[in-house]
Amino acid sequence: MESIDNVLNEAANLVGKNHVVHDLETLAFYSTDIFSTANEQAVAIIRPGNADELIHVSQICIKNEVPLIVRGGGASYTGGYLPVIKNTVMIDTQRLKNIEINAEDMFVTVEPGVTWLELYEALKPLGLRTPFWGPFSGRVSTIGGSMSYHAISHGTNNSVSADSLAGMQVIIGNGDVIETGSKGNSLNTSPFYRYYGPDLGGLFLGDSGALGIKTRITLKLTKFPQGFAACSFGFPDFEHLFLAMSEISKTGIISDNHGLDPRKQKTAIMEMENTNPLVAAKSIFLSSKNPLDGLLQIMKLGFAGRDFLKKSAFSGHFTSEGFNNKEAKVKLAAARSIAQKYGKEVANSIPIFLHANPFMP
Ligand SMILES: Cc1cc2nc3c(=O)[nH]c(=O)nc-3n(C[C@H](O)[C@H](O)[C@H](O)COP(=O)(O)OP(=O)(O)OC[C@H]3O[C@@H](n4cnc5c(N)ncnc54)[C@H](O)[C@@H]3O)c2cc1C
Repeated sequence: MESIDNVLNEAANLVGKNHVVHDLETLAFYSTDIFSTANEQAVAIIRPGNADELIHVSQICIKNEVPLIVRGGGASYTGGYLPVIKNTVMIDTQRLKNIEINAEDMFVTVEPGVTWLELYEALKPLGLRTPFWGPFSGRVSTIGGSMSYHAISHGTNNSVSADSLAGMQVIIGNGDVIETGSKGNSLNTSPFYRYYGPDLGGLFLGDSGALGIKTRITLKLTKFPQGFAACSFGFPDFEHLFLAMSEISKTGIISDNHGLDPRKQKTAIMEMENTNPLVAAKSIFLSSKNPLDGLLQIMKLGFAGRDFLKKSAFSGHFTSEGFNNKEAKVKLAAARSIAQKYGKEVANSIPIFLHANPFMP
């Protein structure tokens, strides 16, 4: 117990007393993830205020041989951040929000507690995005958590979280701080490039935080595509949906290719229904290329109503991106001609809604 008291006192001196929390209600909350409850509760939650404090807090725990675990947005459901042994300290990254954009060399360095929505909103006005740009849970899930979990969903040409990585600063088990990628060489070059010698970064991707704590993460930047097009199809059964998705994915021209089973389809439509129509219309309008396009999309959604999928058990939703709408439409036409072999085209309300609201409320 003495070492835990040391850790909590030292940490409180560093991050401030208010950011070392151990009331029972908070500890109970932090001992659950989306699906399960831990057998052991953490002894305290520590919330460092910047990446350097995160490093120092981790080193204090390591020096005192106190087990530590990191929690990002807490939106995972496989026990990744739940304590498994007594006297574990949990580090919460929710205050680590720094974002440094290098638009010249096309990379962005973030602290691990930045959410995908926060990054998306910081980059969009500059016409920039990362190749993988977030899971559906990106309103709360963090870049540190997703890089540790191999997140998938929103990404150009099916890219996953690992595809966005340029470099990482990681604190490893003995308390040393290492840099992966180009920043890791002896000249401390800028972190613009992942493949500089053996791919050390890969070791820490999808590790659930077990191999080290990510303290700063650098992601590659790409231009935000100006063109967007979407279509949806209803399919009589899973096999037809699968054949269409499989053939379309092989073309490599579709940005998002996702299918919904009857249950998920119902949930997606309910989500659209639960969204205030004015809020939905506003988000679609704001995400459209120009006011006319925005109005057209909203009208189409209104005409389609909520019944457009009633006759189809399964549905497939396909979106394409390009330099401009023309390029996106050419790509989508190729996907459409494949989907027509297996199903029937329906209103594209679901992908239009998702395009405007990529991160679930
Ligand atoms: C409604 C909903 C929608 C979802 N949609 C998707 C989706 O589209 N795609 C998808 O892949 N997943 C999805 N998920 C699952 C989950 O949200 C993602 O895996 C997300 O990437 C987790 O990020 P997080 O910040 O919440 O991480 P947490 O749940 O906080 O942590 C995840 C793991 O990362 C570790 N970790 C956190 N921060 C660090 C750090 N700085 N250094 C080292 N390790 C760290 C934790 O210890 C833990 O092992 C969804 C979940 C929900 C509830």
